[in-house]
Amino acid sequence: MSTAAPRLATPEELELYEPVIGLEVHVQLGTRTKIFCGCPNEFGAAPNTNVCPVCLGMPGALPVLNRAAVELGIRAALALHCEVRRRSVFARKNYFYPDLPKGYQISQYDQPLAEHGWVEIQTPAGPKRIGVHRLHLEDDAGKSSHEGYRDSDRFSYVDLNRTGSPLAEIVSEPDLRSPDEAYEYLTELKLAMQFAGVSNCDMEKGNLRCDANVSVRRRGAAEFGTKVEIKNLNSFRFLRQALYFEIARQVALVESGGRVVQETRLYDPNLDETFSMRSKEEAHDYRYFPEPDLLPLEVGEAWLESIRSSMPAMPAELRRRFVSDYGLREYDAQVLTASRELADYFEGVVHACGDARAAANWVTGDLAALLNAQSLDIALCPVPPERLGELITLVQKGELTGKLAKEILPKMFESREGARAIMEREGLRALSDTGELERIIDQVIAANPKQLEQYRGGKTSVMQFFVGQVMKATRGQANPAAVSELLRRKL
Ligand code: ADP
Ligand code: ZN
Ligand code: MG
Repeated sequence: MSTAAPRLATPEELELYEPVIGLEVHVQLGTRTKIFCGCPNEFGAAPNTNVCPVCLGMPGALPVLNRAAVELGIRAALALHCEVRRRSVFARKNYFYPDLPKGYQISQYDQPLAEHGWVEIQTPAGPKRIGVHRLHLEDDAGKSSHEGYRDSDRFSYVDLNRTGSPLAEIVSEPDLRSPDEAYEYLTELKLAMQFAGVSNCDMEKGNLRCDANVSVRRRGAAEFGTKVEIKNLNSFRFLRQALYFEIARQVALVESGGRVVQETRLYDPNLDETFSMRSKEEAHDYRYFPEPDLLPLEVGEAWLESIRSSMPAMPAELRRRFVSDYGLREYDAQVLTASRELADYFEGVVHACGDARAAANWVTGDLAALLNAQSLDIALCPVPPERLGELITLVQKGELTGKLAKEILPKMFESREGARAIMEREGLRALSDTGELERIIDQVIAANPKQLEQYRGGKTSVMQFFVGQVMKATRGQANPAAVSELLRRKL
C-alpha cells in the first residue's frame, strides 16, 4: 500500500468539513478543420499527417481564425447561458513542451469569448445552478506517448495531428459541493454541448477533458480553503473517484493538524489515488501577452442573433416541457432527453400520433428494448418516428390491440415496413367485426356453464375470466374494451 490516507471521508468528517469544487473543462469543437489553419480536425489519422507550417509553428507562418470554430464557441456559450462579449482578444500563453511546437498556446486571457453563464444540475435538495465563470477559445496541443513502444524506455513519441484543434475551455465557479454534484455538472455540460451541436464529447477520443479544483473548509467558514488542482481525469468515473479520494486526503490532513498546500496533482486510476505533480512554486509563469498575429475578435449583433435563433432547446428546458406540456413522469422526461436524437425522435412520434404518454411508453419500452438488443443508437433506428406514430394511432383507432401492436413493432424493425403492410400480409388486425366477435363470445359462454352460473349468482369477478378466454380465442385480436362491453350484455 502506498498511501495511508482514507479512501472516503466519514459522515462525521463531512459534517465538519465542506468540500468546494470548481471544474475546468476542455471541449474539442467539432469543426471540419483546425482553428488557425486548414488541416483536418479529425481523430485517428496516421501520426503527423494532418499538419502544416501553421500548426507546426514554422517561423513566419501566420494563423487565420476559423469562423466555424468561433461559431461553435458561441453556440457553446449560448448553451451555457453565457454573455458573449462583442470583442474578445487572443493571447499567447508561453510554455515549453515537446507537443507544443510553437512554444506557446494561442488562448484568450483577460478578454474571453464569453462569461457569466450557468448550468442547472439536479441535487437531492432540488435543482441548483452552477455558475460558469468564463468560456474561452484556444488551440490544442499535440499528444506525447511515453509508453507503449518497443523503445519507450529511451524515447517518447510526439503526434502533432491534434495540434491546433479548436477547444473551448469552460471554467466553472467554485459552486460545486460534492463529487456527485461535480459528476452531475459534467454530465449536464456534456449534454448541453451535444444538444447544441458543438461537439460529440467523446471522452475516449479526448473530445471532453476535465481538470478538477478542490478544497475543503470547516462548515460555516467564510473563506475557501487552499485548493488543489487534479489533472488527467479522462472519465466521469475517474472524476468522481479522484474527488472522493482527494477530499478524504485533505480532511485527514487538516484533522491531523496539517495544511493543504496548493499544488497540481495527478489521479492514478489503478491505485485510485492522487499524487503530487508540481507545487505552486514550480507552477508555470505563462507570460501572457496579446497575440500579435491575430486581430481582436469582434462578434457582430446580427451574427450573434442568427446563431441564437438557430439554437435548439436545451435538455433542462425540454425536460420541463415534457413534464408540464406532455404530462410525462420526471423519470421518462430524463430518459427521453439523454440525447438530442432521442428527444427529436420522441417529439416526432408525438407529432405523428398526438399521444405523448403512449409515445413515451413505446419509445422507452418496446423500442428501447429492440434498439438495446442490437446495440443500435436511436439515430440508426430502422423504424422512423412517423411509423411508430402510425402504429400508436392504429391502436388508438381500435384497428390494432396493444398486444398485436407489440407483435408488429419487432417486424417493422426487421423488415423496415410500415405497420399496415405487415397487417395486410399477415392478416393481423383487431376484431372490430362485432358479428364475428359475438359468435366467439357465444361459444366461450357455452363452453363454460359453471362460470356462467357463478357470474349470475353475483360473483362478478368471473368477468375477468371470460374476457381472458375471449382474448385467447381471438389470439389477442379483439379489443378488450369491446369484449367486456359485449360480455356484460350477454351474461
Ligand atoms: P487559478 O488562478 O489558480 O487558475 P482560478 O481562480 O482561475 O484559479 O480558478 C480555477 C478553477 O478553480 C475554477 O474552476 C474555480 O471555480 C476553482 N476554484 C477557485 N478557488 C477554489 C477553491 N478555493 N476551492 C475549489 N475550487 C476553486
Ligand atoms: Zn495545420
Ligand atoms: Mg485558471
